[in-house]
Amino acid sequence: MNFEELGLSPEILKAIEECGYTEPTPIQAKAIPPILMTRDVLGLAQTGTGKTASFILPMLEILYGGRAKARMPRSLILEPTRELAAQVAENFDQYGKYHKLNKALLVGGESVAEQTKILDRGADVLIATPGRLLDLFERGAILLNDIKILVIDEADRMLDMGFIPDIEKIISFVPPIRQTLLFSATMPKEIKGLADKLLSNPKEISVAPAASPAETVEQFLVWSHPKQKRETLEQLIRQENVKNAFVFCNRKRDIDGLAQWLSKKGYAVAGLHGDMPQTKRYEVLDRFKEDKITLMVCSDVAARGLDVAGVSHVFNFDVPMHADDYVHRIGRTGRAGMKGRAWTLAAKGGDDIKFVKSIEKLINREIPVEKVGGGADKSEPAKTYKAEAVPQKAEKPRRDQKPPQKKRDERSKNQSRRQDHDDRANVTGFGDDVPDFFGR
Ligand code: AMP
Repeated sequence: MNFEELGLSPEILKAIEECGYTEPTPIQAKAIPPILMTRDVLGLAQTGTGKTASFILPMLEILYGGRAKARMPRSLILEPTRELAAQVAENFDQYGKYHKLNKALLVGGESVAEQTKILDRGADVLIATPGRLLDLFERGAILLNDIKILVIDEADRMLDMGFIPDIEKIISFVPPIRQTLLFSATMPKEIKGLADKLLSNPKEISVAPAASPAETVEQFLVWSHPKQKRETLEQLIRQENVKNAFVFCNRKRDIDGLAQWLSKKGYAVAGLHGDMPQTKRYEVLDRFKEDKITLMVCSDVAARGLDVAGVSHVFNFDVPMHADDYVHRIGRTGRAGMKGRAWTLAAKGGDDIKFVKSIEKLINREIPVEKVGGGADKSEPAKTYKAEAVPQKAEKPRRDQKPPQKKRDERSKNQSRRQDHDDRANVTGFGDDVPDFFGR
């Protein structure tokens, strides 16, 4: 199968050739023909499978020829996080290079006035996080009556982040006669229910996960004294021939301190977490992509979906408390068939042993324990140091914990909830629905 056989126009074929794509991925081969036939699609696929092009390419074909009116976009792509929305917008620019279609990227943390100006000029495609879209809608900056194609991407993650009520609200503003495409990595019953409500006679498509981290990422575990983790990390960085790396911390407040400490050691380093202004987040990501930054110290906001080519290493400065976060974190390396190495630093004596066990249960294998400087570590970590546990706290309350009661007016309550959602790092809620990344 090649792209010509999918019925794409010469402009798109040229753009994807320039991206270096020679043949469609399985999701593209399966999804593009029914989308071009204006059918609804329910796609079970995760990032890394070429999913974004599978909906953007046919959307470009369908929208080409028409014209957007001011404030009345013709299609809407909903993404759970600002980073994913920005990535989709970037893909739209690449694939739509030879089409004169306008897009508007509507995410929190950026100027509303600027976004309103873009909407005034007329946008064919809106790429938005639910919170900012609703804010703009409520301000009257946008009308959704002309939406002909609606894409709900990463639906299970939207569910984890508590976005489903916002999505249902948005849907009540778009016309009932439209084409709807819904993509999700897993299909929990809430998403199945949403799909049944939203899609009409959909073409159901399912593709295997992209190459699992187990195949392309070598994994290692190092037990460290809790007070020496920074030094242990630095030793690892020195011994590992790091081209570039994500360094994941569990707590936002640790990120800046660790980044500063590494910077003083002479590394090109930056921090990335959800409390940073959006422009700064993009700037840092761009510098990392351009190899101006070697080490990106980050929260789980960077763990899912971010596609940076050729990242050589992932270091988990903290063992993630939720096993599925581990799989997402290490999946930032070893992408597109390249090899990667992932090191996890565990603190002796505390809860880390419990978290490591739950990761090993999920991935169905033991992570080899190494000593810094090389060689397997045969010591018994839990017994070596006692009662030196580092307190492990989530950045945000989990879904099953009650948030503190605060009286706020409806608008500011919604706004702050939406901002939180864009970086609810440790809330996953995948539970038993974790996809089988390891081919079991
Ligand atoms: P996605 O699943 O959309 O996040 O895409 C994952 C990665 O695959 C991105 O880096 C895309 O640029 C790349 N990609 C998408 N389609 C193809 C293709 N047909 N051939 C090669 N790479 C692709």
